[in-house]
Amino acid sequence: MDRVDELKQKAIAAVEAHRSQLIDLSLKIHANPETAFQETKAASWLTDYLERAGFVVERGICRLETAFRATSGEGAPRVAVLAEYDALPGVGHGCGHNLIALASVGAGIAAKAALPETGGSVVVIGTPAEEAAGGKVLMAARGAFDGLDAAMLTHPGNRDASISHGLALIELTVEYFGQAAHAAARPEAGINALDAMVIAYNGISALRQHIRSSARIHGIITDGGQAVNVVPQHTAASFLVRAEDDEYLEQLRPRVLACFQAGAEATGARLEYRWGEETRYRAVRSNHALADAYARNLEALGREVREPGAAHSMGSTDMGNVSALVPAIHPTVAIAPPDVAIHTPQFREIAASEEGLEGMIDAAKAMAMTVVDVLTDADLRQRMQEEFRGQ
Ligand SMILES: [Zn+2]
Ligand SMILES: [Zn+2]
Repeated sequence: MDRVDELKQKAIAAVEAHRSQLIDLSLKIHANPETAFQETKAASWLTDYLERAGFVVERGICRLETAFRATSGEGAPRVAVLAEYDALPGVGHGCGHNLIALASVGAGIAAKAALPETGGSVVVIGTPAEEAAGGKVLMAARGAFDGLDAAMLTHPGNRDASISHGLALIELTVEYFGQAAHAAARPEAGINALDAMVIAYNGISALRQHIRSSARIHGIITDGGQAVNVVPQHTAASFLVRAEDDEYLEQLRPRVLACFQAGAEATGARLEYRWGEETRYRAVRSNHALADAYARNLEALGREVREPGAAHSMGSTDMGNVSALVPAIHPTVAIAPPDVAIHTPQFREIAASEEGLEGMIDAAKAMAMTVVDVLTDADLRQRMQEEFRGQ
């Protein structure tokens, strides 16, 4: 066995040594679901555990109460494993973030065991509010991921894969201001803000036929008028525009906006709009050099890696904003059958089952082994950097 393999065995043994505590903590978070930015119990349990394991812990980083950073070792190379721990309103841990949290905490603790021989440092970064506001979007803007050589996070799902896709996303909020009038007695005196919105909505529907099939535009009307006998003087809507890469998202923006401008033009209502630049999600860019290392490690644990095809169904994740800053991967670990989707009560149950917890343990091991690869393999780090800069 060569030196790197010995270090990986040491990391695996550290996960096993912590197995029952990792599982207990994961189930405790599962039983106490906390939604975006309210994850005070989860953040305190995780940071206390990391502190007891010998990490230097900073709580409430980036001006976010439930964000944290736990560091072991010093200097470069510097590798981060990211923990999510927020739940969904109503569905609890239907996305299995209780598993993400302890997979990353377990990976950090296991990688720490190898640090005396590898040098460098490992950082567990607690990133709140993935499901709502995009905690990592704010944390990226506030420097949380600066100076890292690599970052990773494993999401539970339906397949064992080292890469996943995530669409770039931006929100567009719009309002129309028209003129109220009696809807029957004096309609000719009114300017109908609802008509403007309906014209825009139909324009978007027509546009969707003539864009790349991977892109998505969808929205809701949040104000459609106040009274049936009054010509609506105000309407409002919120739309999301998503695309496979950041460039195509840029191309879509003026075309989407044109639909809303058409509504204003046709009716005479005034349009006000706002792009959510500060909450924009970047597309997930998987670093393939890093992903290949992860895939080999996951296979060494006896799992069969099946990468998703390009047409695989995609949402968006704030991990995209991390992948825009550092070489990163967002692998998935299989815990549920193909027909069980995330964000469902069924997935929530699986996230506390034996399959779910085994997936979490394997994800912890595979990430720890991959941290060892990055810390010990200068050639891998160079390939990761070259790929990252070339993107
Ligand atoms: Zn989710
Ligand atoms: Zn999730």
